[in-house]
Amino acid sequence: MKSFSELTKEELYKTDNSKSCCDTAEFGGILLMGCSISCDEIKLVTENPDVLGCFAMLARRLGYTTQNGQTTDRTSRYTAKITDPTQIFMILSEYSLIDSDTRIIKHKIPKHIIQNDCCRRAFIRGAFLGGGTVIDPKKNYNLELVTPYMGLSRDIFELLRTDGFTFKTVVRKSKYVIYIKNSETIQDFLSYMGAYKAQMELINVKIEKEIRNDVTRSINSETANYEKTISASVKQIQAIEEIQKFIGLDNLPDELREIARLRLKYKSMSLTELGDKCTPKLGKSGVNHRMKKILALAENLKTKPE
Ligand SMILES: [Zn+2]
Repeated sequence: MKSFSELTKEELYKTDNSKSCCDTAEFGGILLMGCSISCDEIKLVTENPDVLGCFAMLARRLGYTTQNGQTTDRTSRYTAKITDPTQIFMILSEYSLIDSDTRIIKHKIPKHIIQNDCCRRAFIRGAFLGGGTVIDPKKNYNLELVTPYMGLSRDIFELLRTDGFTFKTVVRKSKYVIYIKNSETIQDFLSYMGAYKAQMELINVKIEKEIRNDVTRSINSETANYEKTISASVKQIQAIEEIQKFIGLDNLPDELREIARLRLKYKSMSLTELGDKCTPKLGKSGVNHRMKKILALAENLKTKPE
């Protein structure tokens, strides 16, 4: 089964750039963060076939030829190489990667590829594909970008700071790590890169965690129906948040508004318990009926064209 990080990268790979300017930027991100670069060879080595796929696809679109393969030892990693001297020369100059005097490769973000907002996001998408990881939110909240190059790490840090993300920095095993641990920042960062499914998954996990904490705290709840109550509650809360976003809870009919507010307040309660909180009190089937209306309404809002 794919890890959360792998799923995020798969989603990024499948998110197609709508503008061709972004291809150059995204390729640059993978190039700088994921490849070893020399005047003789540009080489990507990765354990993730989606990263390879994305690199090869972007290379092809930009007119470069990659030789793709798989390492034969037990690590079974994927490789993509660019060896054509003309193409290497083109890449080195397009991305200003070579110091004209010393002929040394410099790992810096070339300013001209991150002029547009769309390209900045594309570059970061590539950088994450090449050198990023995000931990499964069920375990912990952590997203990081790792590189052995201090200048590159600083460039990325600055780019992200300009775009509203304050990363923390640390040196680990002589590599430069920039990271975030706040779940909301990670959420925003995933959507910044275009990984909306991953973002939704993180939100789900968060809601579930919240509810579980609620449950642990509550001594009166019956244990048998926890799981069922929780998964139903997660769906209901998402629906209510959807409604809140699109039309606001104030615009709901009174009876639906009451139950929506109660659900947000008492996340782990069963429908029967919620009914007891209503004025006047409401039976389980009554609550269920209203909840169904809320779910249907949210479904409707989602499918409505913008
Ligand atoms: Zn662009």
